[in-house]
Amino acid sequence: MPVRDSAFEIPVDTVITATGQKLDLTSLQGSSEVTLGRRNVIEVNKATLQGNIDWIFAGGDCVTGPATVVEAVAAGRRAARSIDLYLQDKEVIPQERAFNCSKGTLGDLETEEFEQKEKIPRTPVTTMIPEKRKHSFCEFEDVYSQDMALQEANRCLSCGCLDVFNCRLREYATEFKVNTDRLGTGKKTHAILEGHPYIVSDPNKCVLCGNCIRVCQEIMGIGALGFVGRGSETVVMPAMNNPLSKTICTSCAQCVEICPTGALTMKNYLAKPGPWRLEKVESVCPHCSIGCRLDLGVAGEQVVSITSSKKNSIGYQGDLCSKGSFDYSIIKGSRRLTKPLVNKKAFLKVWNGLRL
Ligand code: SF4
Ligand code: SF4
Ligand code: SF4
Repeated sequence: MPVRDSAFEIPVDTVITATGQKLDLTSLQGSSEVTLGRRNVIEVNKATLQGNIDWIFAGGDCVTGPATVVEAVAAGRRAARSIDLYLQDKEVIPQERAFNCSKGTLGDLETEEFEQKEKIPRTPVTTMIPEKRKHSFCEFEDVYSQDMALQEANRCLSCGCLDVFNCRLREYATEFKVNTDRLGTGKKTHAILEGHPYIVSDPNKCVLCGNCIRVCQEIMGIGALGFVGRGSETVVMPAMNNPLSKTICTSCAQCVEICPTGALTMKNYLAKPGPWRLEKVESVCPHCSIGCRLDLGVAGEQVVSITSSKKNSIGYQGDLCSKGSFDYSIIKGSRRLTKPLVNKKAFLKVWNGLRL
């Protein structure tokens, strides 16, 4: 029975049919080049997808048996990388996996960690009533509208680490193939501190390098931070365990900039804070006449972070004040000039260029 509006045309270059049917391997049976495994699938090195003959690569359902499209696409990427190495006459080795550590699944975490978070129920989709559904071949479940999809996406707790693309600890842990289980110290379960208006502190990611304490004391002359506790329970905190917002901290962000891990990160104004792969764009702080030079961390058209430029020799000896580091309001401000204006009889009008 034809379903109304179910036929449509879209322009494409390639069509990959992924129907999840049983594989037809008749052409490969008895092949001396391709070896079939016990489940009648092609045998390859699981990490490189290279077969017994070094110029044969295979991936997807013919290797795993029926699986998801996502797995097949991932295999395609892995195989493409291996084929590239092979064609360059390089050793076909598996791609190195970046070091990752996790606090576990949602059930492993203390409920206090989420006490401050607002509980938002799932956005329901509308469905056709059963009586109508019985006599129809139409889709019984509606899809989300754009607004509903955005609302649903905003329920995400954004629990990923904002520093994942810059964390030097992760970089070195990957390089030296660190296995945290060997330390036997277990997982840290310190509370994440979000009381400061601009800075989030996650002591679970702190490596106790002391950089933040030194920059605050020796460069900024403030001394808002120090080590508290002993051994593996040591954390970086203001004296007397006071919240950072209740100290003489001037919100200069130097501690955040110097922290090599995601233990100190800046809050940003985006609904989805990240993490983002950022592109560096040089700019100048617009907040006062000193005009400190900045590096904007940009993702698409969004400014996600502001840090002091290495070329900065003016201002606070190259460091930014709290306005320069954290005041993004000017970027979103309604009075911001986004087009050139021209004065026409005492009124500013959008300038449309020279008319020659
Ligand atoms: S923001 Fe500045 S003043 Fe505040 S703790 Fe960090 S370095 Fe010290
Ligand atoms: S700079 Fe970061 S990692 Fe180092 S002690 Fe401070 S919070 Fe911990
Ligand atoms: S960072 Fe602070 S001192 Fe520097 S230009 Fe901006 S507002 Fe002025």
